[in-house]
Amino acid sequence: MISITSTYLKSVYATVERRNPGEPEFLQAVREVLESIEPVVIKHPEYEKNGIIERLTEPERFIHFSVPWTDDKGAMRVNRGYRVQFNSAIGPYKGGLRLHPSVCPSIIKFLGFEQTFKNSLTGLSMGGAKGGSDFDPKGKSDAEVMRFCQSFMTELQRYIGSWTDIPAGDIGVGGREIGFMFGQYKRIRNEFTGVLTGKHLASGGSLVRTEATGYGLLYFVEEMLERMKNESMKGKTVTISGSGNVAIYATEKAGHLGAKVITASDSNGYVVDKNGIDLAVLKQIKEVERGRISEYAKRVPGSEYHEGWEGVWTVKCNIALPCATQNEIDGKSAQTLVDNGVIAVAEGSNMPTTPEGIEVFLKNGVLFAPGKASNAGGVATSGLEMCQNSQRESWTFEEVDAKLKKIMIDIFHRSYDAAEKYGVKDNLVAGANIAGFLKVANAMLWQG
Ligand code: NDP
Repeated sequence: MISITSTYLKSVYATVERRNPGEPEFLQAVREVLESIEPVVIKHPEYEKNGIIERLTEPERFIHFSVPWTDDKGAMRVNRGYRVQFNSAIGPYKGGLRLHPSVCPSIIKFLGFEQTFKNSLTGLSMGGAKGGSDFDPKGKSDAEVMRFCQSFMTELQRYIGSWTDIPAGDIGVGGREIGFMFGQYKRIRNEFTGVLTGKHLASGGSLVRTEATGYGLLYFVEEMLERMKNESMKGKTVTISGSGNVAIYATEKAGHLGAKVITASDSNGYVVDKNGIDLAVLKQIKEVERGRISEYAKRVPGSEYHEGWEGVWTVKCNIALPCATQNEIDGKSAQTLVDNGVIAVAEGSNMPTTPEGIEVFLKNGVLFAPGKASNAGGVATSGLEMCQNSQRESWTFEEVDAKLKKIMIDIFHRSYDAAEKYGVKDNLVAGANIAGFLKVANAMLWQG
């Protein structure tokens, strides 16, 4: 059920529901945005008059293709590849590629839709897109991953370009996969351009891109704590889900800010280390060996491993940072976190909290940072990588990090101020949606 009163928004949502059957994640993301922007749409009839919301909820282009590749035994395999180019009102399409067996049109469309508002919030000129495949990189050899990536790019290259659409990494796509895809693009198109971000430093990559989403998340949280609760990360106990790119660098930056992270997880289970997660061990297992999180408990005395990823939210903490995947915190997990005294929850992953979970946090006065604001550091630094590529320059770590920090602080204030202006003070979910929406909607109005 959508909780809006505007007849216009209700009818737009009914159309979205009718046109996208069997796509719950996409409908969930659209519903949240429509609920948030209702006061804006009521105040500005020009959006309805120009059909802005109908246009925003329909992707400009959705590409679906087959990705044939051969495994190490010589057998032919076929996966499905996708790219959604959601909205280009404020800049070329930009958004990550996800390789995970759960990838399907609903997931790709929810991510592309969210990306449109997130990119707008960064203040940079980037439209929204997302893509990926149901290919599972787990357990595949480097050669298999390479053959898959090359086949994927052989088709994708028709639709992207450094002024058109610039993909990046996401779940299952890190430096290795970006490298294989970049090499294939260059080979086919005979051009060395910044068509992908997250590149190796020797091929036009940016310092801080690897750390950006996790670091950015913590810059956002630090600002939110200070401005909304007169608090800081120092001395706080933190639980984090996931053990991939976002989780690892969120753990690192939380440590820099004086907090202690006591959990890490993957899709099989989670570890609790009351002494604080040993980052060197975590990085070795996940970044070097591509192993499972259960390994951690075997190597670090005093830590415990538990089967089942949901259990991570039963661990007592001051601050919870979901950094794995969508819908990881439901109403019940949210209530457990509240009962255990959580004061802030900030999303490192995309849409990790269900609508019921968000309601529990907001009702109980927990500071809640939505992913499209708090995890925007990754795409923001991708935007900085594009700036450096255009200028054929490389900035230092400190320069990029300082720009990232400023962008995250600005995103917090844009979201906070928009919430206040439209009568939903302290609701950063609504504030982020409104601030992200306004820039895109006004660009669409201007372009006709
Ligand atoms: P990685 O592939 O590096 O890591 C993903 C982590 O999440 C792994 O620990 C993985 O465990 C776990 N995970 C994935 N799917 C599930 C699942 N269904 N249930 C439980 N755990 C799961 O991805 P990233 O760290 O890059 O991305 C994490 C999240 O952050 C995603 O939502 C992504 O969209 C979002 N994000 C990423 C950005 C980036 O710059 N990388 C930018 C902004 C948002 P396992 O190994 O078992 O699969």
